[in-house]
Amino acid sequence: MTKLSDIKIIENEPMSKHTSWRAGGLVKRYVQSASLTALASFIASLPDNEELLWLGLGSNTLVRDGGFNGTVIATQGVMTQLELIDETTIYAGAGVASAKLARFCAKHDLCGADFFAGIPGLLGGALAMNAGAFGGETWPLVTEVETLNRRGEINTRQAAEFEYAYRSVKGLNDEWFVSATFKLTKKLKARCSGDGQAATGSENNTVDIKQLLAKRAVSQPTGVASCGSVFRNP
Ligand SMILES: Cc1cc2nc3c(=O)[nH]c(=O)nc-3n(C[C@H](O)[C@H](O)[C@H](O)COP(=O)(O)OP(=O)(O)OC[C@H]3O[C@@H](n4cnc5c(N)ncnc54)[C@H](O)[C@@H]3O)c2cc1C
Repeated sequence: MTKLSDIKIIENEPMSKHTSWRAGGLVKRYVQSASLTALASFIASLPDNEELLWLGLGSNTLVRDGGFNGTVIATQGVMTQLELIDETTIYAGAGVASAKLARFCAKHDLCGADFFAGIPGLLGGALAMNAGAFGGETWPLVTEVETLNRRGEINTRQAAEFEYAYRSVKGLNDEWFVSATFKLTKKLKARCSGDGQAATGSENNTVDIKQLLAKRAVSQPTGVASCGSVFRNP
């Protein structure tokens, strides 16, 4: 193991330790950073042709048994800022757990992010694939993102610059998500409606995080190696 200031580099790390499939061969370098600044400098120092894989919680990543001859950037524990900017706007780092964002929104009486509660990943992973559940998805809530490129520069990009569809996002160009700004809806009644909007009608058409998690618990296996659904919901 080599340690360079705030960067920890582990060589020949088994990726099976870092994916929910609990499978995958060795990665040449597995990199953990104590800060975004250190990470930016480290990435800028890499050769242009170095293959990079950013990793959240590895709940949607399958690495082949032959491993990965590049550098994995672990984002857990870095980019963890989570802040209420104004009444309905949240800034969240790519290293924030999706479930934490859901709880943060609920605490601040904001609707629209409940579906994140059961997604076992970080926001970087959710942004990369437009994660969603129960009719909600990531990108309709996003107004802008910050990205880090290979030169170690952080840029702000508008959501409109990205093209998203069911579990797919286009628009990243040799850059990775650092944060996202989310616009949500203020809760008017006791709960949010099923479509993520503030409830205005019957209280029967309501959901909350506990209900969503209970629904998930009976319909999906937990505690086993998987990456969740591998089919497209109708
Ligand atoms: C039991 C189970 C249930 C699940 N349920 C759902 C569900 O209901 N809905 C759903 O959408 N998904 C679901 N998933 C899949 C997965 O949890 C989500 O896709 C999640 O958003 C992935 O986040 P992650 O941090 O684990 O991503 P990872 O697996 O670490 O990464 C996924 C992809 O995103 C890229 N990436 C990660 N961070 C960044 C970044 N900062 N910038 C750019 N690219 C990045 C990676 O390179 C990789 O290509 C489930 C998985 C499991 C195991």
